[in-house]
Amino acid sequence: MQFENNLSFAQQCDSKDSLRKYRDQFFIPEVNGKPSIYFTGNSLGLQPKSVPQAITQELEDWKNLGVEGHFHGKNPWFSYHHFLTKNSALIVGAKEHEVVVMNQLTTNLHLLFISFYRPTPKRHKIIMEVAAFPSDMYMVESQVKLHGFNPDESIIEIKPRENESNLRQNDIEAMIEMHKDELALVFFSGVQYYTGQVFNIKAITEKAHQCGAIAGFDLAHAAGNIELKLNEWSVDFAAWCSYKYLNSGPGSVGGVYINEKYANDSTLPRLAGWWGHNEKDRFKMLKGFEPEYGAAGWQLSNAPVFSMAVHKASLEIFADAGIDNLVKKGKELNAYLEFVILEAMKINSELVLQIITPAAPERGCQLSLLTNENGKGLFDHLTKNGVIADWRNPNVIRMATVPLYNSFEDIYQFGSILQSFKN
Ligand SMILES: *Cc1c(COP(=O)(O)O)cnc(C)c1O
Repeated sequence: MQFENNLSFAQQCDSKDSLRKYRDQFFIPEVNGKPSIYFTGNSLGLQPKSVPQAITQELEDWKNLGVEGHFHGKNPWFSYHHFLTKNSALIVGAKEHEVVVMNQLTTNLHLLFISFYRPTPKRHKIIMEVAAFPSDMYMVESQVKLHGFNPDESIIEIKPRENESNLRQNDIEAMIEMHKDELALVFFSGVQYYTGQVFNIKAITEKAHQCGAIAGFDLAHAAGNIELKLNEWSVDFAAWCSYKYLNSGPGSVGGVYINEKYANDSTLPRLAGWWGHNEKDRFKMLKGFEPEYGAAGWQLSNAPVFSMAVHKASLEIFADAGIDNLVKKGKELNAYLEFVILEAMKINSELVLQIITPAAPERGCQLSLLTNENGKGLFDHLTKNGVIADWRNPNVIRMATVPLYNSFEDIYQFGSILQSFKN
């Protein structure tokens, strides 16, 4: 598409956009009495307007039915996780029995590591990206220690080459090859939270498998943002949160994928709880854990229904819009964002910015801008003018163009605010 840096072009794009009706299904926070330009859907997605009613439904069932809500509520709580499985599976490209919604992201990663990181004196290493999200670093380090290994020896972090911001796929594969005799696990994010780089999940998984290792992914910034085909790519396990691109509210429940080849695998160790026990006997309170088939067998506790009600409402919007359509539009918005930034830099020589997110296809809808020493001043200028973006020390501004509620006009307006920056 040939972009133009003017309002009528942006409005035209919006009027041709078949997904534009979804913006009205979200509450857009206001700044100075006007809708903000909300570019932080990668950090906390906006609230769907269907959410208050979804929570009210569960409150009413609790109020009117008490414990009977487990079986006689409108959405019986006993089965609540089932209401989320199909639409979650669509987003990550999985079969339904490969997916379950439960707990939160870091907790789920620990549970998955208990099953899939089984180090031996010979094979104990984990390869991951350098400067991963802190929770992932702490999680991996503590898992390595749990098994009595030394994180300095067992964790191999891949770094970008000098003067580069991103990892090269060749370097990732070479590193896997180099450690292949000692490698237990390759663990990557799907989209790097800081740079926005999209990793090649399919190729990383293939290489890990060739080298006898398990491949697992943290999809916090990937779920709802990029195309995922976890089953087709033979990914072993993955987990994600629901409050970023999936718009399910602060700290809401997380999702887990476990490849179907482990659905009935009794050799895998796992931490067990009653909600993972085979469903037909779950309330019989018997001794002896028998896991439910598939990912559902990894559940521990009964479902946090209020969080799940929000997630359910949000997933219904994704199912309605279609994840493929959303991914496509997210990329278009992102390309337009890049265009208006480059235009603004041509017009305003005070803007010293570098886009560190790699070009498509190695990006989704996040763009990370490296600023110079005036970066904080620029960020404050954006904030004052109604742009909600995300500042990351030392000097990166992260933005996401979310296809469900961001518009081409948002991006055009952002560009003109950027142009008007003065030191
Ligand atoms: C957002 C994010 C988390 C957050 O973990 P929670 O357990 O949901 O608090 C973890 N890892 C990555 C990669 C993230 O982007």
